[in-house]
Amino acid sequence: MSADVPDRVVIAHLFPDALNLYGDRGNIDTLVRRAGWRGIAPEVRDVGADDAELLSGADVIFIGGGADQHQRAVADQLIALADPLRHAIGEGAALLAVCAGYQNLGHAFRSPLVGEIPGPGLLDVETEMPAGAERFVGGIAIEVAEGSPIATADASGRRRIVGFENHSGRTTIGPTMRPLGRVLIGRGNDGASGFEGAIALPGEGGLRGLRIGTYLHGPLLPRNPHLADFVLASGLGRGVPVGLSPLPDEPEWEAHERFADDWTAIRPGVYRRSRIGRLRDRAGALIGF
Ligand code: GLN
Repeated sequence: MSADVPDRVVIAHLFPDALNLYGDRGNIDTLVRRAGWRGIAPEVRDVGADDAELLSGADVIFIGGGADQHQRAVADQLIALADPLRHAIGEGAALLAVCAGYQNLGHAFRSPLVGEIPGPGLLDVETEMPAGAERFVGGIAIEVAEGSPIATADASGRRRIVGFENHSGRTTIGPTMRPLGRVLIGRGNDGASGFEGAIALPGEGGLRGLRIGTYLHGPLLPRNPHLADFVLASGLGRGVPVGLSPLPDEPEWEAHERFADDWTAIRPGVYRRSRIGRLRDRAGALIGF
């Protein structure tokens, strides 16, 4: 561990019970392990509505996915936490928000199932779920921009990120953020723009902390060690990523490659739903996913 790396990391997990789809909690486990392997003592804090004080001193803040009803259930509580969250990110905490968390932390989420949910605007995005919208379900691979610090966060130099998407919401990015990546396989933010997720690098948008919103479940971090380390390093360095010692990530990269290969075979090129698939999408929209 280099001299500038703190010896402990505080990870705040927002609404871990309500928002935890497709193994999202695995992202926390990954951060915990990758810190621990480097001799950095992890502390995980489960943060609910009345736990604003637990956000103080957080290095990384994570929020996962959930169905629309769960998003409705936590919406007011998230608004109540908006100031402490903004403060923590302003102090340099790194934010990672997945799917429903991505949608809920934006300016607004509109769904035919639960109506309009205003958000705290911590991510400069807005999400609309059109009635009867096709669900975007399956493996997804994206590529971050050339020169992105995610690609150089570890020795791999890889620009690809893989994950699993399952959403009907269509997300538009505002002027203070940019897409996390370009879609290689799958659908991404809206199925049309060719982009996925939203990112503000440390210092952008007036906040010291890194902010990432994405539709990628999986869980996301175990198969994407470069992204896991970028989040960890940015949070630990309060916006100036610390130099983390390299880890032997062969199994992680093998899982990454295998996932990408499998989904390239299943979902080549532009992905089109079959008639049965579209019927299932509609049924899914009715039950709230
Ligand atoms: N209910 C949201 C959507 O379908 C989010 C689902 C999720 O978190 N996977 O758009």
